[in-house]
This record gives sequence, C-alpha cells and structure tokens, in this order.
Amino acid sequence: MPKKPFKSAAEDLIPPRLTLSSLKSAAAGCQACDLWKTGTQTVFGEGARRVKVMFIGEQPGNEEDLSGRPFVGPAGRLLDDALDTAGIDRKQTYVTNVVKHFKWEPRGKRRIHKKPNSTQIAACRPWLEAELALIKPDVIVALGATAAQSLIGPQFRVTKQRGEFLESTLAPYVMATVHPSSILRAPDDETRQLEYRRFVDDLKKLARVIK
Ligand code: SF4
Repeated sequence: MPKKPFKSAAEDLIPPRLTLSSLKSAAAGCQACDLWKTGTQTVFGEGARRVKVMFIGEQPGNEEDLSGRPFVGPAGRLLDDALDTAGIDRKQTYVTNVVKHFKWEPRGKRRIHKKPNSTQIAACRPWLEAELALIKPDVIVALGATAAQSLIGPQFRVTKQRGEFLESTLAPYVMATVHPSSILRAPDDETRQLEYRRFVDDLKKLARVIK
C-alpha cells in the first residue's frame, strides 16, 4: 500500500480489540473526512470473519448508501452473478470499499457517483487496514482503478494488468480487475456481454487459487 501522506483522524477510532462488529460500530461515527456530511451513513465491509477472498471496491453507491450495506445495488448483483458463474460462493468472500461513505453530486433528482479524492481515500485507509488485519485474506481483488491504485500503487493500470496476480505484502495473492459498475455502463449489449465474460474469466483465476 502506498505511503500514508498524513495521519487520519480515523486511526484514533480503531478499537483496541478488533472484531467486525466493533469496527463497524466505531466506523459508524467516523468524521475523518468531509464525506460523512453527504453520505447517509457509513457503509462498512460485510462478510464472514474467516474468508479467503476480500473484494475491495471504490465506494458505496446510491443503494448501498441508503441500505447501509456494500455491494447490494446493481453492481453488487452483477458481482453475485459473476461469482456464481465462476463457481465462487459469495458467502466465502468479504466485500468492502476503500472509502466508506457515498460521494455524489446532484443531477436533477438523482445522486450521481463522484470519484473520491486522494485525501478522502487516505482518511479512510485506517478502516481498510483494520479490515485487512482482521480478515487476513488469502486473496485480495481490487475492483476498478481507484481501489487498484490505492492498494497497488498509482502507476497501476487496470486496462493493462487486470487478472494478473501481483506480489504484495497485503496478501499472498493480489489481483485487480474492473469494477462491475463499468460493465453495466458498457455502451451496448454486445460489449456488456463481452466485458462480463472477461470479468468472469478473471474471477475463475482466483477460484483456482482458493480451491
Ligand atoms: S469516508 Fe471514511 S474517513 Fe471519511 S468520514 Fe466516511 S468513514 Fe470516515
């Protein structure tokens, strides 16, 4: 993980005894960056304590913000389908984001996703580091460029290096692929199906290493 540029106020909120519930409760009151003002609630990671695979996306979306749960919107449903096709049980995975509040801008009556900036990503990093320390996954899969660059480094290009296992101190296996929301944004059905198949192919690689 790249060097921390500053001490986040979130570091002082990490409970001394790490459990998923203590972390989630502590993160609910986080105001370490300005996103707590625009998001409805902190959307913490979700999954079992002992899993082999941790998926890390960018930030919660509109549905996740309202429900308080990660990957439950359209992108999460696509991830579920792709995991099923690749032969991976979602119950065997933990899903989270590098930023735990929804960043958005208004467009008419809709709330449109806005990419978090480097300060917000750095401010939220103590929560992700605590999740990693607790879960200790065998495999980390970064979903999309924001997560990949935060975890692997700013030079990482998902378009060129997706689906490759990389050396990392974070976990025995680290891979990045596209965020499922990018598949949903494909310009036409044919492209969407092609991108979905490529996504499943990436997931099948991790299915092989966790078997
Ligand atoms: S985005 Fe992260 S650091 Fe910012 S307020 Fe939410 S939980 Fe805290």
